[in-house]
Amino acid sequence: MRGLAASWVITGDGETPPLRDGAVVLDESERIVAVGPAAALRRDFAAVSFRDLSAVLMPGLVNAHTHLELSALRGQVPGGQGFVPWVDRLVSVRAQARPQADAEAIEAAISELLAAGVVAVGDVCNRLEVVDTLGALPLLGCVFHEVFGMRKDTAEVMLGMAQKERASRETWPSNLRYSLAPHTPYTLHPDVLRGIVAQARQSGARTSLHLAEHAAERAFLHDGGGPFAEWVVKRQASALDWRAPGCDSVRYADQLSALGSHVIAVHLCDARADELSLVAERGAKVVLCPRSNLHIEVKLPPLLDILRVGIKPALGTDSLASNSSLDPLAEARALHKRFPTVAPSLLLAMTTSFGADVLGFSQVVGRIQVGLCPGILAFEHGASVPADPERFILDNERASRNLVSQPAFQRISLPSEVHA
Ligand SMILES: [Zn+2]
Repeated sequence: MRGLAASWVITGDGETPPLRDGAVVLDESERIVAVGPAAALRRDFAAVSFRDLSAVLMPGLVNAHTHLELSALRGQVPGGQGFVPWVDRLVSVRAQARPQADAEAIEAAISELLAAGVVAVGDVCNRLEVVDTLGALPLLGCVFHEVFGMRKDTAEVMLGMAQKERASRETWPSNLRYSLAPHTPYTLHPDVLRGIVAQARQSGARTSLHLAEHAAERAFLHDGGGPFAEWVVKRQASALDWRAPGCDSVRYADQLSALGSHVIAVHLCDARADELSLVAERGAKVVLCPRSNLHIEVKLPPLLDILRVGIKPALGTDSLASNSSLDPLAEARALHKRFPTVAPSLLLAMTTSFGADVLGFSQVVGRIQVGLCPGILAFEHGASVPADPERFILDNERASRNLVSQPAFQRISLPSEVHA
């Protein structure tokens, strides 16, 4: 066993006040054996040697939504004009991508995740190329194998390809979970979407759905028109074989039984108060990607309304095609600047325990708590101890951080998922 003593310990649960002069005792697998005042732990664990840190400790971070396979597009897809112009540019840049550049960019992006102190990730991918790399690293992951296809025939072909790719893998890394995931309610045929979500529910898995991201999604589902419809006509020869439902995407997802506690709704940037109430009522999990929304739509998710209805959102970065880094703390800092009334403890919990809860990893990471193996991140403060450690982390973009506890998740058996 070993001990870490620091000027402050933040548990990451969003409720417990930071502990001044705190300490943590870890066993050989980096599992927390004790947490409390340093003086008491030094007395109770007299045989354990403690490392003294001039630092604020908090749990390892959770990036609950990214697309690692798009990492080669960093800085190449300008935003600011809304989703449709952004995705149009993304598709044309993607068409020129070199596979080798993709592989190198994915590796660099994953190194960046680890350097940021991320211990768990929710990654959405169209191909399973990242699985072997993620599987070999000290990370927990949910791999959401994304399916899209607006017409039923196309969607079924895409679903079949995804299932075949998964079935062709003989082994699967023990630190990663897998599920199929519908892209959005407007880019996947409703029958296929319903089927994927029902399958996730039956198998006890969590799935992910981009939901209420932007105004063009609302317009398209409302009456089949707007900028997204024009873009589809420009790109696709065959007519759609389903009609716009005539409602918003949250209600539409509900009609498709895609709003349960096993579904992670990503974005909700364009959601209105009554739609957020429905998301909360159905117990769906939520991930916000504020810097991606700022890049694409120049808009932020309605955080105050989201918190008001009782949702505990996780944070994700989305891909490097709409963001400049994969650091979830940078998302919290972006929200902190624009929502100064939201408690810093909540913003930090969004990068730790709320993320772990959303991805289904709360029995392993997300909180500095006895029995968990959260990984511990130290933010050094030098000689002067900050009076408010949560604000110290949010306000100091240049505070140096490093993981002073990094569990090898491959050696930890993941608990089976619970949806409640
Ligand atoms: Zn996304």
